[in-house]
Amino acid sequence: MTERVFNFSPGPATLPYEVLVQAGKDVVNFQETGIGLIEISHRSREFMAVAEEAEKNLRELMEIPDNYKVLFLQGGASSQFFMIPMNLLGNGKKATYLNTGTWAKKAIKEAKLFGEIDVPYSSEENSFNRVPTQDEYTVAEDSEYLYFVSNNTIYGTQFPEFPETEKMLISDMSSDILSRKIDISRFGLIFAGAQKNLGPAGVTIVIIRDDLLERTPQNTPTMLKYKTHADKGSMFNTPPCFAIYAVGEVLKWLKKQGGVAAMEEINREKATLIYDVIDSTDYYIGHAEKESRSLMNISFNLPTAELEAKFIAEAATIGLNGLKGHRSIGGCRASIYNAFPRDGIVKLVEFMKQFELDNP
Ligand code: PMP
Repeated sequence: MTERVFNFSPGPATLPYEVLVQAGKDVVNFQETGIGLIEISHRSREFMAVAEEAEKNLRELMEIPDNYKVLFLQGGASSQFFMIPMNLLGNGKKATYLNTGTWAKKAIKEAKLFGEIDVPYSSEENSFNRVPTQDEYTVAEDSEYLYFVSNNTIYGTQFPEFPETEKMLISDMSSDILSRKIDISRFGLIFAGAQKNLGPAGVTIVIIRDDLLERTPQNTPTMLKYKTHADKGSMFNTPPCFAIYAVGEVLKWLKKQGGVAAMEEINREKATLIYDVIDSTDYYIGHAEKESRSLMNISFNLPTAELEAKFIAEAATIGLNGLKGHRSIGGCRASIYNAFPRDGIVKLVEFMKQFELDNP
């Protein structure tokens, strides 16, 4: 077998090794049933227990209040770009969006199909190298909600604090869910594709305040109404069983690590190791402004594109994989979600220092 490498991929991303090993066994024979996990009925006692436990652990870890529903949906995080306005903005109501990157822009584009969308802030002119501070935008009085992307996966920016507003917050937390403690009660809806901090691709978690389930216009297709899935415990149709199972295993792992507060501390320490190298030299240039730095994705440049290509290629030869930046901004990016091991970061930091010495 090939030795396991450090995988800095932005998503799908590194999962805890013990989760992979367990999943490998369960795929073949789930809980000694003689049936593989991906063969077993979603209505079986065994699978229902898996889904219930996953939800219970998510509620516990994120301290989700009782008046919120947890949904396990399909269609990727991208489907939430239209489901949110489709369900919540019926008949041309208004919402405010902060444009902090590609994923925000895509959400804005879809929202415009359903309502009047106000975009009071954009960092596009500065290649999305920052998120706004509170005094850089105002939320329109007649907005239904304020939408923001809490962590911008491509640019390596993250809201250090959430927007302060009277309006309900809606957030795309695809790349930082469960990486830090949050107060759910400030949000109307939070969603996240699983494939970064939660598990494999194939399931999107939606946490929605239950009064919002009633807002959906009547003529919305059944599968696209949040209420359809809320009423049936995410079992209206066949759910993505494997992905839900794997999320459940990641959540158990997370509890063993000490939960979200412990993870937040670890994440801060891990990211600081890399930012310290970036700050100690002019050779590596961080993409994000300091106040907007992400603890999950660290995007940076070297002096030239040639050196970046060499850096990425050489890193891969010593088991540091997936450091290529997103095609839209180039450069390098280290994605270091919850499950990314600290040892890999120490190895990257050593490599960065040596590479600079060898390639002045
Ligand atoms: N939002 C964010 C912040 C993302 O990083 C991504 C994917 N990288 C998406 C949305 C889109 O997710 P999906 O591919 O599941 O539609």
